[in-house]
Amino acid sequence: MAEATATRTKVLNYVDGAWVEPKSAEWRDVINPATTETIAQTPMTSAAEVAAAVEAAAAAFRIWRRTPAEDRIQPLFKLKMLLEDHLDELARIITLENGKTFGESKGELRRAIENVEVACGIPTMMQGYNLEDVARGIDEMMIRQPLGVVAAITPFNFPGMIPFWFLPYAIATGNTFVLKPSERVPLTMMRVFELLEQIGLPKGVVNLVNGGKDVVDALLDHPKVRAVSFVGSTPIAKYVYARAGANGKRAQCQGGAKNHVIVLPDADMKMATQIIGDSAFGCAGQRCLAVSVAVTIGEAQSVFRDSITQLAASLKVGNGLDEGVQMGPVITAQSRTRIELLIATGEKEGAKVILDGRNAKIPKLESGNFVKPTILDGVPSTSELTDTEIFGPVLSLIHARNLDEAIDFLERSPYGNQASLFTSSGSAARRFRYEAPAGNIGINIGVAAPMAYFPFTGWKGSFFGDMHAQGRDAIEFYTDKKVVIERWGEEHSRKF
Ligand code: NAD
Repeated sequence: MAEATATRTKVLNYVDGAWVEPKSAEWRDVINPATTETIAQTPMTSAAEVAAAVEAAAAAFRIWRRTPAEDRIQPLFKLKMLLEDHLDELARIITLENGKTFGESKGELRRAIENVEVACGIPTMMQGYNLEDVARGIDEMMIRQPLGVVAAITPFNFPGMIPFWFLPYAIATGNTFVLKPSERVPLTMMRVFELLEQIGLPKGVVNLVNGGKDVVDALLDHPKVRAVSFVGSTPIAKYVYARAGANGKRAQCQGGAKNHVIVLPDADMKMATQIIGDSAFGCAGQRCLAVSVAVTIGEAQSVFRDSITQLAASLKVGNGLDEGVQMGPVITAQSRTRIELLIATGEKEGAKVILDGRNAKIPKLESGNFVKPTILDGVPSTSELTDTEIFGPVLSLIHARNLDEAIDFLERSPYGNQASLFTSSGSAARRFRYEAPAGNIGINIGVAAPMAYFPFTGWKGSFFGDMHAQGRDAIEFYTDKKVVIERWGEEHSRKF
């Protein structure tokens, strides 16, 4: 089944409960980044065809919002079981189109499933509150109602997980949903929608439209789309937030990142090296929570520099489907070039490339988009590189005199997705938790990815909006509050 899906030449849209081939003029190649083979073609759907998906979702909303919450979650229980049953097959598709290792693909699917499980609690999570006798004989209640048609636009780096930050909550709260995945990795969601077809949702409740900027603009401009969720780079997140706002839509837009980890000399260096190595080089550094700058203090400078370099140099790079491979390729040839140019920028700015992953050649995969783990030592604390998201397997090392100076570096960063500290001091940990200017904090944790029942809380240039993805924020985002104040005179009821 994985084979059949992965080698399908045409990516289709799923609209109003049916697979449709858009009559789009332009088709783009979907490339396996490890081999650079073309594995599919994906359509650039037109605005008119996007509108058909929105209209189908709007029609479905009339029935879906009247479906009891308990009935709305039954298909999600089925979805969880289907995702479990197809985990390996889906993981293989993710690795084929994204490049990450098979184990990493399975890991992101676990996070996807976790969001389905949490959304199954909607009958409790969606409840409002009330108070009798706000005045004599007058009662007041707050109820939550779904918005209508909601849309999500997702990036290439988690083809299986990120759509699930939105889809389960959106439909469980009674909305209908339109998804536009990244045009670079459309196959995973196509297979997921084949599974969604089997769970008994009325037609039009979930819709899939493939494409790029034109699809995004069509969703942002369609008057029947009430809310937009976006995950991607900061410039596009800002653009989507502004255009959605100008059109009166609710928006939550997650952007790029540049995540710092501070390593204190009292840290367990072996553990810190292992965990920070996984954070910086896992998924080839293409995680919005990847650590990309390590700030060392005191003697951590030389100890950590040596241990992380040794670990990074030992990582086996190759095709993510091959046994024993620990790091896959980056997504495109353009990404590889951009990353290599940024390494050169760091070098020009005075950093020393102590591990150089440029011009990587992997046997039998000579044309693949590979950059091997790279470490830049002594990156100046103010430089182009310290403010630029690299989104590749590159770790910059900076030295600070003390925790104050290290936190200062974080203050100056334009991003605030994640910050981590490695220490054995509770007092330093508390201070860091209190002062670090980022939304997701890790203490002796390298990838502080919130579980599905907590919000994913990027700050600064990493997030535009006020309600985040996942957890209770998802319920806030996907519902409107309505307050009802009621008076029913007692006299009439005394007749009975
Ligand atoms: P991207 O911004 O290029 O694309 C994201 C989505 O926007 C895609 O669906 C794409 O088709 C669409 N898009 C691209 N250009 C557009 C344009 N000009 N107008 C309208 N829509 C457009 O991001 P990417 O390269 O797919 O993903 C990597 C980025 O995503 C990194 O910056 C990473 O940090 C970020 N990211 C952030 C989070 C987070 O939670 N903050 C999570 C994952 C990824």
